[in-house]
Amino acid sequence: MSKVTPEQIDDLLPQTQCGLCTHGGCMPYAEAIVFEKAPINLCPPGGVETLVALAQLLNEDASSFIDEMQQKAKPPLLAAIREHECIGCTKCIQVCPVDAILGSAKQMHTVIASECTGCELCIPACPVDCIDLIKGLPITREKANAARTRFNNREKRIKKERDIKSIRLTQQSLSQKRNYIQEAIERAKARKIKP
Ligand code: SF4
Ligand code: SF4
Ligand code: SF4
Repeated sequence: MSKVTPEQIDDLLPQTQCGLCTHGGCMPYAEAIVFEKAPINLCPPGGVETLVALAQLLNEDASSFIDEMQQKAKPPLLAAIREHECIGCTKCIQVCPVDAILGSAKQMHTVIASECTGCELCIPACPVDCIDLIKGLPITREKANAARTRFNNREKRIKKERDIKSIRLTQQSLSQKRNYIQEAIERAKARKIKP
């Protein structure tokens, strides 16, 4: 059998990017399974279905994990903001891995229900505890693929913003150095001119 790739494994994962597998996201977990022989029972949002699919792909026996996964599997969830209590701090937007929250500073925020994967990362981020978790719909392959796209787009955007910030800081620092050198030259000139 040809070697299984991280992409093939990632294709079976629910793409909530919740981090419960302790690998920081779905693709890092997929890479850990392939390159570090991480166990296949670490994804509670995927539940038994994902566990069995991973076992089939990797030609492994999942039977010893089934009971444990039935216990720890996470049901599909959906975040819902109690909008009248929202103070518009934007903290939830900053942590939502799939850009499923709309809002701007000092404005009420709202969850785009069709995009929310129920990852729960916004819950601890909210300083006024105004986000509830309610029952969500099962994550279909279509929804997982859309979540992956949104996650990857967000990562690209964040990297671009960081790069721009870093370029600005470098330019600022160069400009400060140039000013400092120019001031030193001016001071030296002024000293020479003195009788
Ligand atoms: S959905 Fe599963 S694989 Fe993806 S980050 Fe969460 S626990 Fe890890
Ligand atoms: S709205 Fe909250 S629960 Fe839903 S995807 Fe974003 S961070 Fe996760
Ligand atoms: S973290 Fe809470 S208070 Fe802040 S914008 Fe989000 S929902 Fe509103």
